[in-house]
Parts: sequence; C-alpha cells; structure tokens
Amino acid sequence: MTLAEFAEVAVPLPVKTTFHYRIPAKLQTQAAPGKRVMVPFGPRHLMGTIVGFADSSPFGKTKTLESILDEEPVLRPDLLELTRWMAQVYQAGWGETIAAALPGPLRRARTPMKPRKQEEPPPATPSQPFKLTAEQQRALEAVLEPVQSKTHEVFLLYGITSSGKTEVYLQAIQHVLDQGRDSIVLVPEISLTPQAIERFQGRFGPEKVAVLHSGMLESRRMQEWNRIRSGEARVVVGARSAVFAPVRSLGLIVVDEEHEPSYKQDDTPRYHAREAAIRRAQISGAAVILGSATPALETYYAATSGTGIHLLRLQERIDEVPLPEVTIVDMREQIASGRRSRIFSRPLEDGLTKALTAQQQGILFLNRRGFATFAHCRKCGHVLRCDSCQISLTYHIATKKMVCHSCHASTPVPDLCPICKGDYVRFEGTGTEKVESELSRLLPQARIDRMDTDATQMRGSHARILQAFSAHELDFLVGTQMIAKGLDFPRVTLVGVISADTALNLPDFRSSERTFALLTQVGGRAGRGKMPGRVIVQTYAPHHYAILAAKTHDYQAFYRQEISIRKQLNLPPFCRLADLTVRCTKEMTAREGTENLAKLAKELLPAGFHVLGPAPAPIPRLRSHYRWHILVKAPGIDAMTQHLPALLKKFRCPRNCRLAVDVDPL
Ligand code: ADP
Ligand code: ZN
Repeated sequence: MTLAEFAEVAVPLPVKTTFHYRIPAKLQTQAAPGKRVMVPFGPRHLMGTIVGFADSSPFGKTKTLESILDEEPVLRPDLLELTRWMAQVYQAGWGETIAAALPGPLRRARTPMKPRKQEEPPPATPSQPFKLTAEQQRALEAVLEPVQSKTHEVFLLYGITSSGKTEVYLQAIQHVLDQGRDSIVLVPEISLTPQAIERFQGRFGPEKVAVLHSGMLESRRMQEWNRIRSGEARVVVGARSAVFAPVRSLGLIVVDEEHEPSYKQDDTPRYHAREAAIRRAQISGAAVILGSATPALETYYAATSGTGIHLLRLQERIDEVPLPEVTIVDMREQIASGRRSRIFSRPLEDGLTKALTAQQQGILFLNRRGFATFAHCRKCGHVLRCDSCQISLTYHIATKKMVCHSCHASTPVPDLCPICKGDYVRFEGTGTEKVESELSRLLPQARIDRMDTDATQMRGSHARILQAFSAHELDFLVGTQMIAKGLDFPRVTLVGVISADTALNLPDFRSSERTFALLTQVGGRAGRGKMPGRVIVQTYAPHHYAILAAKTHDYQAFYRQEISIRKQLNLPPFCRLADLTVRCTKEMTAREGTENLAKLAKELLPAGFHVLGPAPAPIPRLRSHYRWHILVKAPGIDAMTQHLPALLKKFRCPRNCRLAVDVDPL
C-alpha cells in the first residue's frame, strides 16, 4: 500500500531517465517497487518496472499506470539497487539492466506457464567435507569472520590448481547454510561442466543446489529461478548472470577463476560480473571470495596495495602432487633444423607417441577453430575475405565452407580465384580441425576427438565427448579454450600447446596476461592423477616473459614485470578505461563523428582524464558497419561515472550512426 501519487518506472530502452506515472486508486494497494507494470509510452504500450515512488511529477500531463503484472515483486530491494548501480557505472539504461537481470519469460508481458516436470542430471555421489590442511583452515577461518558477523569483506583466494580452493568454498558455504543464509558461486560458462556441478550437488544435496547457465532451456531456467526465490535452493552455481540470482538472504558470493574474461558481458549492460558480485555483496552485507591461480592484475594489485581486498594464499597442492614439467619448444629452431611439420615439433611428436604407448591420455590445445585460417590465391595474392566484415575467411573441412568468424556468414569454396580466375587458391594457417586430422595421420591407431564450438553445437555432445574421454574411449582430445578449464582426468599426462603465439600476438594490452593465465590453466590439466604430467609449449617467442614465467609456474615473476609495464604506460589498474565506438555504414560519417566525439571529450573532461584516438576500432568493420573509436582514461571509476554522462549527453551522434560505450573494456 502506498500513499504516493506517482510511480517512477524504468522502461527497457537505452535512456538515462525513469518516467513518472500516476497511480490510479484501484492499483494503490498493489503498487510496490520491483513489480512489473504496463504503461503507455508515446503511441505504444511498454512493460516497465516500478523503481520508486514520488509525491510530484516533473511533468504537467502525467499518464496513468495501466496495470500491475506481479503479485510479488520480481526484484527485491537489493537487486533494484544492484541494477541501478550497474546502469550508472556501465552507462546503460536502468530498465535495460533490469531486463538483463530477469529470466527470459519475465522479460515478456505475460505470466509464464508453470513448467512441466523435467528430467533431473543423474544423482551426484554424496561427499563429506575433508579435514582441511593448515593453509586451507587459515583461509576458511579468515572468511568465516565476516560471515559470522554478517559484514561485507572481499578476499582473494590465490592458490595454484589443485591446492584445494574449491574445498574451502564448499566449507564456507556450509557455514552460510547453517546460518540460514544463501550463497552464489560464479564460474566461467565453459567450466560449468557436469563434473563441477556434481561437487556442489554431492555436498549439499541436489535439491539445495540450483544451476543457471546460458545453455539451458528458458523453462528450465525459470524453474531454477523459482526454486531460488522460494528458498528451496540455497546454493546457486552459475555463469555470469547468476550474479542476479534472486536469493533471499545472501551470505557469500564466490567468483571462481575471477580473472576469466568471460565474466565481462559483451552486450548492454556491459558489466563485469566480478565487480557486480562485489557490489551486490556490499549491498547485502555478504562476504566475497575471488578465487584464482592467476589473479587478474587489477585484483592482485588491490590485494597487495591495501585497497580493500584481503589476500589469502594456498601454496601447496593437495597430496603434494608436483606441478607438471613445462618444456618450451622454439619453433624457429625446429624449422631451421629442417623439420617440415609446423604443427608437431619433434618433442611434441615424441611425447604423443610415448603417451599412446603407455596407454595414457593427452590434450592438444589451439585457440583457433576450423581447418585453415585463411585462403589465398598463389597467383595474384588475393585473400578470400568476408564481404561485410573484411576479415579473412576460415576454411572448415567438416562443412566444406568458408566461414567468417566475426559474423558467422558462410560461403562455398570457390574453384577459381574470384579476381584472376586462376586455379591457385590454397589454404594456409592452422585450426583445430587440421590439428585433429594431422594427428590421425601421425598416429593412425590413436582414438581422437575434437572439442570446440563447432564440434559441440548439438545439445549434449559436449557431455558426450567428455564422457568418452573420461572412460578412456579416446586417447587424445584436441580443442580450443573449451578444454582449458576445469577438466580433471587422472590419465592425462601430456598437454601440448600447438601455438602460444595466437594469444600473445593479439593487439591488446592484456595479451601477456591472457597468455600467462591460459598456459597455466591448460598446463594444469596434466598430471592430475598419480602419474606426473608434462606440458609442451610451442612458440616463436620463447623468451617472452609471459612464457618464461609459465615455464617456472611463477605468477609473482610475471606480475612484477607486467605491473611495472602497466604503471609506465598508465594502463589499468592505474587508470580506468572506457571505449566509445561509433559505427555507421558510411566510413566517412563514422570517422567524422568520432573526430567530433574526441574533440568534445578533450574539451569537457577535467584534468586527470586522457583521450586516445580517434582511430579505427580493433574490428574496423563488422556486418557492413565501419567502426571508429576513442579510448577515455579516467583516474578512477568514480571520476568516470561522474564525468562521462555529460559527454554522452552533449555528443550528437550523426544520423544513421550508433554510439556504443564500454566501461572497463576487455
Ligand atoms: P582447486 O579448486 O584449488 O583446483 P580442489 O578443491 O579441487 O582444488 O582440490 C583438489 C583435489 O584435492 C580435489 O580432488 C579435492 O577433493 C581434494 N582435496 C581438497 N582438499 C582436501 C583435503 N583437505 N584433504 C584431502 N583432499 C582434499
Ligand atoms: Zn563477416
């Protein structure tokens, strides 16, 4: 029941303001913040959400609420505040942000149907808590302090793979459950494997655990959402968007693999789930554990410079299993010594043969899908490119098509060069399909499968491949970063990185950080059982500090190098970035618009800010749109949040252009 005359409503549009509506007498008793409503909006009817009340309206002629859709608010006050904060920091509309926080069926203006009873994932084996090691015990006790007093604290649990981080999460969650409170565990989408989910279900019972990820059917997601909301499920395990899980009484959020780039949402609202998790926990008086073997530079810097994050370390592996031995292979030497294969160096070939003979398993990693990464004409030099994105096309042998990895358009392979009509079109560059086929040529008796987004497009095939690998029906698994995470197979003794350079050569200031994290993570797949593991890394840059540090498993050495470079160049964590991209079908317009934007930014933003550009965006053309951008460097996130809106308000985007703002871009 409200006595206010007006409701403030957020509508799912890219607007910075909320809208006022008169509350009719018959709806007075039902109106409440967090409920969805129907409102007239120009000539349209929109679904919005009540976010507050007001005694007056800034407009003379205020329209009236049409109806209220919910009996109970779909967003409780904590989530209303989280979405408000998120819209402000990431420069999105509040209503758009609310839409991102709700499961699909609630984004539409009808009451969702009751879901049918669905098949359950086979029952998990019940597990008991382990007796913790001294290190684990210390970490747990530190986390339990704020949990007991229901206050907000953030911890970085920095521990190498297999040092028992997950066991610490599990026992912390148990305490939160004993208090009658709820926990959210965020994991990167690709490491949300049945194996990982089972550990939580096995400990707390499947009825207490809810799972949320993007591969689920909407009805299933809705069902899990309801189980969380009703209080039946008290532990939520999910990908990025599970940060919006409607738990009633939040005690703990775990962000596992907190350094993972997939925590950043790449569409409006472009939020970072780690930052959102910290903010949500702050609102609710909950603790946060950020877990990683290779913390993000920002996180480790915050944890070691006394700025709000407590550092907890796990330095030993459980069972003292040694970390795998890492061999760096200089591919320049391989080629100089006359080796023909660009895919398998001599040491890698030997390692694969040995693993097969010993009936052990191996994983081969390459972060590029397809067979050949480009095709060109050897007569005139023409490279086959996507008509709308201009990037070179990848040849996929399974479908016999040329595919654009930007817009996913595919075309048949031309018989003749489209320019000179010569018969000299050849494929170059290596993708996972080619690694798979070369491996079967090298070891014809080996049982091999491939795991990448092409191979796992069919629902369930992901689990099927892992199942076959786990049952040792396969000797080798070839894959992209899909296989870099979370997999735990005791028979895997060899991990081969076909090329460390694909990540290293990306034009991005985080490329070294990515490479170090990726090598550490892939390497962590070797030697999980009793047999010692071995990692072979092939590269043309064997002396790069990220690769040398990965060889010695030395995060500290890597961090020292990298943080001094970041400081020198004034890059995050020493500043905050925002990427402002203008796109248009006309290149001139995109360019001129961006030039105006840069000029305006330099005029309006105060001292301490820096404006870089204008320049063509890293992807200069996408789906027939030309893209130009500027980068804004702010001294901190508060300054960014305070001063960016004035610039965005003042900027007149040219006709037929769109401006996209990405705060903390990855
Ligand atoms: P991380 O999350 O750091 O990779 P895990 O928590 O998965 O490490 O631990 C690695 C393995 O050791 C798992 O199989 C886990 O069940 C086991 N483990 C963890 N803590 C203990 C402990 N205190 N005593 C015995 N085994 C443990
Ligand atoms: Zn394309």
